[in-house]
Amino acid sequence: MDAHDLSRRWQSLMAALPPSARLLAVSKGHPAAAIRDLAALGQVAFGESRVQEALRKQEELADLTQLQWHFIGRLQANKVRQVLRAFGTIHSLDSLALCERVSRIAGEERCQPRVMLQVKLRPDPNKGGWDPKDLRQVWPDLQRLPHCSIVGLMTIAPLGLAPEERLALFRDCRQLADDLDLSECSMGMSGDWAEAVSAGATWVRLGSALFGERSVQQSVA
Ligand SMILES: *Cc1c(COP(=O)(O)O)cnc(C)c1O
Repeated sequence: MDAHDLSRRWQSLMAALPPSARLLAVSKGHPAAAIRDLAALGQVAFGESRVQEALRKQEELADLTQLQWHFIGRLQANKVRQVLRAFGTIHSLDSLALCERVSRIAGEERCQPRVMLQVKLRPDPNKGGWDPKDLRQVWPDLQRLPHCSIVGLMTIAPLGLAPEERLALFRDCRQLADDLDLSECSMGMSGDWAEAVSAGATWVRLGSALFGERSVQQSVA
């Protein structure tokens, strides 16, 4: 997509989003040049799901010190240190062991990542995420982790739900976040962001709606 189309799509998405819902530009599968084009318009927050790909682009864009990088992929235990060095926010933590590891390594690295906990609110064999009951059970342990700032929940709607079912799912996510006194809800992608926003999303993660189809097809977390 050329810079003009990108600009037009970004402007119309920004106009459609209420101030409470921020746009995370999911740039996985798209080149650094596209990120640079969006940054020139004022987009600051970018999401990536593969560490090596993200590091390559971050290096190319090192002059853009205003950029905020969000990790949205499935985080492997052996990548935690790399991710903490390169990303300020992680959307996709889905086990106590992983959160403990993130907190321990963040302490060593002297950083304090903002994290969101990925929840699975409907059965979905292809996605990670906490069952809400399990999350409530470990919540006291999570709250005690010294080097993680838990700011919200993240969810991905399974494919094939009707719009009203997605809306109900996103409302459940908002409700659970409110119950846990968490302000952020990262929910809504290119195909379902409107329902997520009406249910109270504070971050929508948009890839193809913004950049067009990815050149390298990748699975979501
Ligand atoms: C790729 C990805 C997105 C963006 O997907 P689109 O459908 O292209 O908007 C959002 N969230 C996660 C976790 C992803 O992996």
